Amino acid sequence: MPKFCFTLVLVLFMMACSRTTAPPESGPVEPGVSLALAEERAQRVSDVSYLVHLAVPEAVSEAVAGRMEIRFNLATAEEPLALDFRAASEALHSLQVNGAALPTAVEAEHVLLPTNTLHIGENNVALQFTAGDSALNRNPDYLYTLFVPDRARTALPVFDQPDLKASWELSLDLPAAWEAIANTPRLSVSEADGRRVHRFAASEPISSYLFGFVAGRFQSVTRGWRGQGMTMLHRETDPEKLARNLDDIFRQHREAVAWLEDYTGVPFPFEKLDFALIPAFQYGGMEHVGAIQYRAELLLLDENPTDDERLRRASLIAHEVAHMWFGNLVTMRWFNDVWTKEVFANFMAAKMVNPLFPEIDHELNFLLRHYPAAYAVDRSAGANPIRQALGNLNEAGQMYGPIIYNKAPIMMRQLESLLGADALREGLAAYLERFAYANATWPALVEILDQKTPLDLAAWSDTWVHSPGFPPDSRQAEDTALFYGPQAAQLEDMARWPQLSPVARGRLLLNLFEGVLQGGAVAPEAYARELLSRLTAEPNQLLLSQMLDQLAVLQQLLLADPARERVQPDLEATLWQALAQSTDAGRTRLLFDNLTQLARQPETLQRLHAIWRGEDSISGLALAERDRIRLAERLAVAMPERASALITQQLAQVENPDNRRRLRFLAPALSADATERDAFFASLADPANRATENWVLDALGYLHHPLRIAHAERYLEPSLEWLQDIQVTGDIFFPSAWLNTTLRYHHTPEAIATVQGFLQARPAYNAQLRMKILQAVDLPQRAMQLRE
Ligand SMILES: [Zn+2]
Repeated sequence: MPKFCFTLVLVLFMMACSRTTAPPESGPVEPGVSLALAEERAQRVSDVSYLVHLAVPEAVSEAVAGRMEIRFNLATAEEPLALDFRAASEALHSLQVNGAALPTAVEAEHVLLPTNTLHIGENNVALQFTAGDSALNRNPDYLYTLFVPDRARTALPVFDQPDLKASWELSLDLPAAWEAIANTPRLSVSEADGRRVHRFAASEPISSYLFGFVAGRFQSVTRGWRGQGMTMLHRETDPEKLARNLDDIFRQHREAVAWLEDYTGVPFPFEKLDFALIPAFQYGGMEHVGAIQYRAELLLLDENPTDDERLRRASLIAHEVAHMWFGNLVTMRWFNDVWTKEVFANFMAAKMVNPLFPEIDHELNFLLRHYPAAYAVDRSAGANPIRQALGNLNEAGQMYGPIIYNKAPIMMRQLESLLGADALREGLAAYLERFAYANATWPALVEILDQKTPLDLAAWSDTWVHSPGFPPDSRQAEDTALFYGPQAAQLEDMARWPQLSPVARGRLLLNLFEGVLQGGAVAPEAYARELLSRLTAEPNQLLLSQMLDQLAVLQQLLLADPARERVQPDLEATLWQALAQSTDAGRTRLLFDNLTQLARQPETLQRLHAIWRGEDSISGLALAERDRIRLAERLAVAMPERASALITQQLAQVENPDNRRRLRFLAPALSADATERDAFFASLADPANRATENWVLDALGYLHHPLRIAHAERYLEPSLEWLQDIQVTGDIFFPSAWLNTTLRYHHTPEAIATVQGFLQARPAYNAQLRMKILQAVDLPQRAMQLRE
């Protein structure tokens, strides 16, 4: 098979990399972890093991003290060797290399081990230090590590690159009342002076971003699994809610492991599997070896969850468990291939949840979960290819986004349909076997798969993986497994709606919405009315949810003011009517959530306020604490005259301490007083005030609420100016989430000019962040044109 094309792409790719990693003028090592440094170390260093001891004080204001011993094999000792440690020199208290004490200096985020202390063969480095807090996610009575992609080095001195896998042995000195889980089984707990020291077993070889632990005041639930325990840590205060969810959560973990063993032919590759439910966790989940972290609210569902919530939970659990094989057992060599582990986890999750939800139309679910998000990037001027160059790990966070989470799974389905399911499965099994406990690249997998097909996979990979935008051939494909990209559609096509299959309805919705966005090829107001006319009768919850999502964007962004005002009464009347007719609790929750978000008319707001007070109710709808809090927040924005009373009363009623901390944080962003909101926004300049990213995003959503959008224009310029700092200090999804939440409802020529002016004034601006800005401003820009 011709490999020429692919080789050429590879050469170009490597040229691009080497250009961005040229050594800087000053100092021997540039900040971060450059590709050049990583490649050099991968050549020289092997057999790494870390012995880590951390003492965590009760008070969040006091520093975490660390002690480490690092052992490794060195192939050459003629050059100094850099350890990664993003800290000030004062944070390093002692340093010994092979027994010799050295001065403690941190230069350009590295501890340099001098040549005269190193030797070929085994080396030993001992360090004492203060662990940086930022990736330890310290809260008043708990903390958790989140080191992906390159943040281990903010807490510990390490070789922070995925292809220097190491054995990790951890001991944690914690307040006596604290629980803890880590990557490996706990060997012992010893107690003294109101403190407990937890010792954990040495790990299999794992990458630094997968090392992790969770510790604090958590409740612990253990269920038996394969002759040992599977433990869940949580902070939920509602016992009924826990009881309602526990069986499903544990069962889905067990079933996911069994499914993956069957599909891959590889037994569960690590010693044990625990997980922690963390309030306001930054992501949906993170797959630390043997100790998965989840956003608590995605696993502990309220009463009568929607189909979508149940599916999302099952998919999330399946996704994180799949990472134990795809990502943790076989890891990408460099973070430019981070998408491979994400696409496999998503692909496996989709395959796995199908049999668990026989009542759901999975073809439709795949379409609605992935296509709209992928289109949103691929239709923009900031579209990026799936595989991108990455010169330094300090930019690895920017590799993440809808293209790897949503477009790559579509690509994966194409790949399976091109190769055949059996050939793909065999290829993946060979890949897991060949690279177990080690690292691999996308080209290495393409090479394995290419042997299983007469097709030119390299050329296909070039279109799908190395190029941005909609692949030309896929737009026309009629086969659902092969099409990708908007197809021409007209409003008249809606006349066929009753005869269409659910998947065909889903495709029509996507195509019509793209038609609205393509300069109004489909008239926005007429389309909104069409959606409203179909809403109450649509039986499929996934389609209903998609229709409501589109209506929310139309009504809050795309429709010009007069059209929006014309549609508003019909929108609210339709939602009330659909609520009255709903006999399904999940459907009722979905409709109610949309109504509370979109309500603007005084009668509707009054009734919602009565429901919040408990003086009115909707049949089949029980409001959990989080629902009531969200309702109070939304009403506070829509009814500014009541904002202060709403928040004060809601705060007094909150029982869960984490919910109370969140609402206290949010309160100034909900205030009717613009000066209070301005002061809150200004406080976000300080990274310390952006630490709990989910709270910040919720607050930003209220600052830039459609009802306050004119006032919020003043936040745009500083929000863009802080973006680079946000990329450096924040977690991987935060920069784009910050941008999307900030820009979402802006549409005035002035707002768009602010964003364009920002980019024009900075021709040398970070290329990845420029793309993220162009992606986020795409919809606002289209809204401006539609509203003209
Ligand atoms: Zn993942």
